[in-house]
Amino acid sequence: MEGEWQGMYDVMIIGSGPAGISAALTAKNRNLEFCWFGSKGLSAKIEKAGQVGNYPGLIQVTGLEMRDIFQQQVEEAGISLVTEQISSIYPMGNSYAVNVKGEMYEAKSLLLAIGMETTKTILGEERLLGRGVSYCATCDGFLYKGKRIAVVCTNPQFEEEIAFLADLADEVTVFTTYRGFCLERGNIHASIGYPSEIKGEKQVEALVFQGMEIPVDGVFCLKDSVSPSVLLKGLEMKDGHIRVDRAQQTNLKGCFAAGDCTGRPYQYAKAVGEGNVALHSILDYLKEQ
Ligand SMILES: Cc1cc2nc3c(=O)[nH]c(=O)nc-3n(C[C@H](O)[C@H](O)[C@H](O)COP(=O)(O)OP(=O)(O)OC[C@H]3O[C@@H](n4cnc5c(N)ncnc54)[C@H](O)[C@@H]3O)c2cc1C
Repeated sequence: MEGEWQGMYDVMIIGSGPAGISAALTAKNRNLEFCWFGSKGLSAKIEKAGQVGNYPGLIQVTGLEMRDIFQQQVEEAGISLVTEQISSIYPMGNSYAVNVKGEMYEAKSLLLAIGMETTKTILGEERLLGRGVSYCATCDGFLYKGKRIAVVCTNPQFEEEIAFLADLADEVTVFTTYRGFCLERGNIHASIGYPSEIKGEKQVEALVFQGMEIPVDGVFCLKDSVSPSVLLKGLEMKDGHIRVDRAQQTNLKGCFAAGDCTGRPYQYAKAVGEGNVALHSILDYLKEQ
């Protein structure tokens, strides 16, 4: 894997919801060298909550108020979050690496705090990943200069990436799962809805939406989370969740997981608790190395 090496960290945390925040705060308290990847607004699931009444220490807050408190806590702790979506993690033997816009981050341990994928995988998406399907506009956009592409977008925060793609591609057909898509460009055609299939033998050839086949050269799926087993090959799953033990250890050496991605109940308190347990398990793991 190529890229400018950013150094060897103790831990790489992927995901910026309550589980990732809890782990990052503990990593900071324990003086670990860590890199942290996630979303601009920390977590859409925090932002979307109407009233939260079951989180200890916060009495009836809205999701947005809760997000602001988390944000302030992270900033005051002096923690920086790299707001980039990770689409692949590379096991390197005794470490894990990711490539973000030409920069390579490597760490001795890994914590997956990636939440639960709420949008279903499109038929053909995983099969054609890397063969016309991409999760990263800035990584792969250059491949589609002058071509026809489709973008499936689940969060307005990715509209910047769609603008980037529209500067390169000839035609961009966008499908959003929300109302209010507001990018206006001559080569962008937007609809609300979710395609049912991505077609192609060896390479993406078309996208199917409401029974209609739209010929495209590539499909960008810009969503809050990708399937864990696509993110990291070899990860063992159980009933749609990452299988972990009570120390939050997965089946892969040095790889831990916390929060909604490990199973129900989907709750803030459970995510925060698991993020904390995982980080303590990582401290033990690092001592043994
Ligand atoms: C509308 C709504 C209301 C809710 N109300 C409550 C409530 O009142 N009380 C309660 O306890 N729970 C509530 N929940 C549940 C709660 O939101 C979740 O249990 C909690 O957010 C899970 O935290 P998490 O850290 O596991 O994941 P998430 O909060 O989902 O965070 C995961 C984060 O990681 C990021 N991420 C994922 N993959 C990647 C990647 N590859 N690269 C970079 N970043 C990535 C995502 O973008 C996201 O920001 C509610 C949920 C919803 C949707």
